[in-house]
Order: sequence, then structure tokens, then C-alpha cells
Amino acid sequence: MTSPQIAGTVPEDLLPVQEIFGPVPQGEGPYTGRASCFIRLGRCNLHCPPCDSKRTWDTSLYDLAQTCPPRSAEDIVQTAGEHGARSGLTVVSGGEPLLWQRTAAWQQMLSELPGDVHIETNGTISPNDFTAGRVAHFSVSPKIGRMAAADPAKRRIRTAVLADFAGLAQQGKAAFKFVAADDGEVEEAAQLVRESLIPHDRVWIMPLGEDDAAWTAAGRGIVKQVMDHGFNFSGRLHLTLGVR
Ligand code: SF4
Repeated sequence: MTSPQIAGTVPEDLLPVQEIFGPVPQGEGPYTGRASCFIRLGRCNLHCPPCDSKRTWDTSLYDLAQTCPPRSAEDIVQTAGEHGARSGLTVVSGGEPLLWQRTAAWQQMLSELPGDVHIETNGTISPNDFTAGRVAHFSVSPKIGRMAAADPAKRRIRTAVLADFAGLAQQGKAAFKFVAADDGEVEEAAQLVRESLIPHDRVWIMPLGEDDAAWTAAGRGIVKQVMDHGFNFSGRLHLTLGVR
């Protein structure tokens, strides 16, 4: 169901939209380089300190009514079409987009978007049957290390939800992406991968870095550890290219 945290804040027939942009290359994970339209929805159930999308949720910094105005599904789909959705791939991100999956607007948006739809999620909410059936790929990013500093484990790590996504990963419909700043955080990810029975070949480790220089420095520090575990290594192509 829609989270109590956000219930009533947006009419059922609308979705809060922070931005729609593209076409741009997907910058991270297994679909890196694929031309994509991004739809970034407002609100999140976590509060990661290094979050680069605080306009979607941080009420201490932003007026969400201004940064994430509610829009109709019809309007979202039309705008997405003007920004690359017609070329084949739309990535719905956030915030935490699955907060909205039980709304009528979500169902209309996913039904009317052309081509493939990917979802970027923090892995705390399982997709319902409608969402799982429509979405071609889930990029699941449980929060560990520095990303996890502000939220208790019971809020960030939902064992049953991770089991659902691990099952989708085994079907090739999901991949896990952990942001790690150092070898200790790679180990934290590896422990969660073991406990959650996540297939190793469906795990991407992405160095923490808000710009290309910081990403490169962190990446050089952890790449051996990532390879030793048999995980994949994720770039942040949009930082390298200086696009969104
Ligand atoms: S889960 Fe994602 S959008 Fe939400 S606070 Fe963390 S990094 Fe930001």
C-alpha cells in the first residue's frame, strides 16, 4: 500500500515528479550506455547522507511542493516521449518510486509508457504483481556503509523484500547495485549478498563519488576487492561524460 508517510500528500490520480530528462546514456550498472529517458519521482523512505537526489525528499532543504509538483500520468508519459521514451527505454527512479506502485496514476503511467521500463529502487518494498509483470528490469540498491548512516538497519534491510528481488535476479529481471566507499563497505555488501542468496553475477559495486575524480579515487581503492569477490564493477558514465 502507499506508505503512511506519503498517504494523502498527493492525489491518487497524480504522481510527484522531480524531473523528466533524456535521452541520455544510462550511467550505471548492467545497462550502462543504453539510451534512456529518466523519470524521477518524489519522496523516499530513507535518508542517505550522500544522496544526490535530495530534492525528492529532504524537507529540511526543499519545499517538495515546488521541487516535485504532482503531475498526471498522461502528462508524464507525453513528456517522457519527448525525452527519449519512444526510443525504447524508460528508467523510473527517485526517491523511492515503489512508494507509488498501488496508485492509479502509477498503473496508468506504466501501462502507457512505450517500450521497456526499468525501475531503480532501494530494495525496501517488493514489487506487486502488476509492477513485476510490466517492468523489464529492477536495479536494486540496498544501503550500506556511508549511505546507511542515517537509517536503522530494520528500515534499510528488509529480509523478505531482498529475497523477492534475489528471486527476480535469478530470473535475470533484477540486478543489485551497492555503493561502496572502501574495502570495508565491499565486505558489508558481500555479507548481505551471502545472507540474501543473491547471485554473485547479478551484483554490481559502484564506488562512492559525487564527481568523476572522487569516483575514480574510490574505485582504485576497491577494485581488487570487488574482483576478488567475483562481483561486477559499475561506472558512473554520466559523471565521466558530464551529462545528467
Ligand atoms: S534511497 Fe536513494 S533516493 Fe532515497 S535517500 Fe537513499 S540515495 Fe537518496
